[in-house]
Amino acid sequence: MWTHETRRAPSFAEQCRQLTAARAAFDWLRAGSQTVQQQALRDFDQAVKYFYAWTHRRPTWRRAGRSEGFRIVGPQAARITKLNRRWAAALVPKVGWVRFRLSRAVPDAKSYRVTRDRSGRWHIAFAVAPKPIPNPRTGLVVGVDRGVMVSAALSTGDRLICPSLSKAEQGRLRYLQRRLAHCRPGSNRGQRVRAAIAKLHARTGDRRRDWVEKTSTDLARRFDVIRVEDLRITSMTMRPKPIPDPGRPGAFLPNRRRAKAGLNRSILANGWGALIQRLEHKAAGRVEKVNPAYTSQTCSVCGHCAPENRESQAVFRCVACGHQANADVNAALNIAAGRAVSARGETPVPVSPKREPQLATST
Ligand SMILES: [Zn+2]
Repeated sequence: MWTHETRRAPSFAEQCRQLTAARAAFDWLRAGSQTVQQQALRDFDQAVKYFYAWTHRRPTWRRAGRSEGFRIVGPQAARITKLNRRWAAALVPKVGWVRFRLSRAVPDAKSYRVTRDRSGRWHIAFAVAPKPIPNPRTGLVVGVDRGVMVSAALSTGDRLICPSLSKAEQGRLRYLQRRLAHCRPGSNRGQRVRAAIAKLHARTGDRRRDWVEKTSTDLARRFDVIRVEDLRITSMTMRPKPIPDPGRPGAFLPNRRRAKAGLNRSILANGWGALIQRLEHKAAGRVEKVNPAYTSQTCSVCGHCAPENRESQAVFRCVACGHQANADVNAALNIAAGRAVSARGETPVPVSPKREPQLATST
């Protein structure tokens, strides 16, 4: 980073030269793979570039147990052998042959990443951007409405629910969190409880990702155009502003912070952002973002817009024409018919040709 003495931050090339000098000086550094160390510098370089392009937050320190992993590029990444139908092995530098379970065919990739998640599972991922799903040319348009009770309502009348933890699993999670509160920090018992909690969180994440992948593929295969609400999830899920108490300086009025936190949790748990992102990858150029204003209050039959139309969270009844429908499906129909507003102007970020291939997104 920039300091008063050095003036400008060392570039990636300069950092690599410093790494070579440091490797010559320290045995412990030389014991590790140079590719892994260089790629970590490259990741950092990318993170800093994103930070200064205002697209991402400031890079943070990596934490043991949370952001574990490394990247292998170049000829070293090509040393993969398939052992049989289910297993393959990769020659990881300084480690040796590591077997991995095949979840799909190994693609022709120029790099791979090995990661370890919070629940201790190791994954190997080959960096390839798959081709988008071709347009089915059925002429069908679908509107997708996001919800909290129903994760995604389609204008076809389908209501899709993103799976999460079962009642029993939620109970176990609460039980474990209570137990963790009674554990001494850093104790062995605390670590065991923490690992059990991480396992439950990993299970939720797996289920959500699975649902997002299956739903987005299904939508991209069935419909020509997919219309979604143009929501800003980051600003939507921000914590509410504190309300100063006019009577008592320095004190605050209740601002329903806990209630908002619960709503935020369910917005994020429904995987809405991930669903749109994957849809834009899979149906590149076929996702349209629609202004979400009044989609839940407007009648999808006669177009009458009034807050009284929304009888309850679930039921929509038009006060003008008497049309009655499920509130989420009515909103999805409005989105399907909606005029597409131009998506936010996204500023392109300069991309190095050596970067991992990125998925094409439609704007
Ligand atoms: Zn109506």
